Amino acid sequence: MAEFAIAPAPVPTVPVEGEAKAFPVRRILCVGQNYAAHRAEMGGDDRAPPFFFTKPADAVVPPGRDPAYPTRTENLHHEIELVVAIGKAGADVAPDAALDLIFGYAVGVDLTRRDLQAAAKSAGKPWDAAKGFDDSAPISAIRRWSGPPPAGRIRLGVNGQSRQDADLGDMIWNVAEIVSEASKLWALAPGDLIFTGTPEGVGPVVRGDRVKGEVEGVGWLAFQVA
Ligand code: MN
Repeated sequence: MAEFAIAPAPVPTVPVEGEAKAFPVRRILCVGQNYAAHRAEMGGDDRAPPFFFTKPADAVVPPGRDPAYPTRTENLHHEIELVVAIGKAGADVAPDAALDLIFGYAVGVDLTRRDLQAAAKSAGKPWDAAKGFDDSAPISAIRRWSGPPPAGRIRLGVNGQSRQDADLGDMIWNVAEIVSEASKLWALAPGDLIFTGTPEGVGPVVRGDRVKGEVEGVGWLAFQVA
C-alpha cells in the first residue's frame, strides 16, 4: 500500500462498558420517524414507512466530552434514541437472523439543526447539514448484548425537566426489522452504528443546557451543550 500523502484521520471510538477496549466506529445510519407520535409531531405521513439517513463516523461524541453548539442554527433539537452497534458483517439479512449481527446497544442523542432540516424539507434538498454536522451524535458506552433486544422506557431530560418519555415498544419498526432493512440498503459491517429513531417530545437545547438520556437496561448519557 502506498504511504499516505497526509496523516490519516483517527478512528472514532466509543467505549465498551466495563472493558478497556473501545468500539471503532465505521459508519452511522439513522432511522427517521420510527415512533408514530414523533412522526405526527414532525408532520409525517401516517402511511409512509420509516426511512434512513446518515451521519459521518466522526460525529460521535463519546461519554465525558461535551458537544459544541453547532454553527448556522438557531434551533438545535435533542432526539433520544436507542443505538444498535453492529459486530458482524451482513447483507440482505432476514429479520429473524438480524439480531445475530448485533454487538451491543448504547444510548444516543441525534442532535438536529431543526431550522436547517425544515428548510431542506420544504425545498426538497438533502438533510446532511441538518443531521450530519460535527458533534451531532453524543453516545453512551456500548453495552455488550445477546438475546432479545432491550425493552422498557426511553427518556430524556434537560436541566432536570422531562422532555421525552416513551417506551421502546412504541417503535414502528423493531430492532430486528431495522437491522434487516438497513442490510438490504447497505452491506453492514463491524463498527456500524444504527440510531433507531426518537419518540415524541423533541425540542430545543441552548448553550449551557444539561442533557441526560436513559434507556432502561442499556444505560445513560449526560452532557452539557458547550
Ligand atoms: Mn433521529
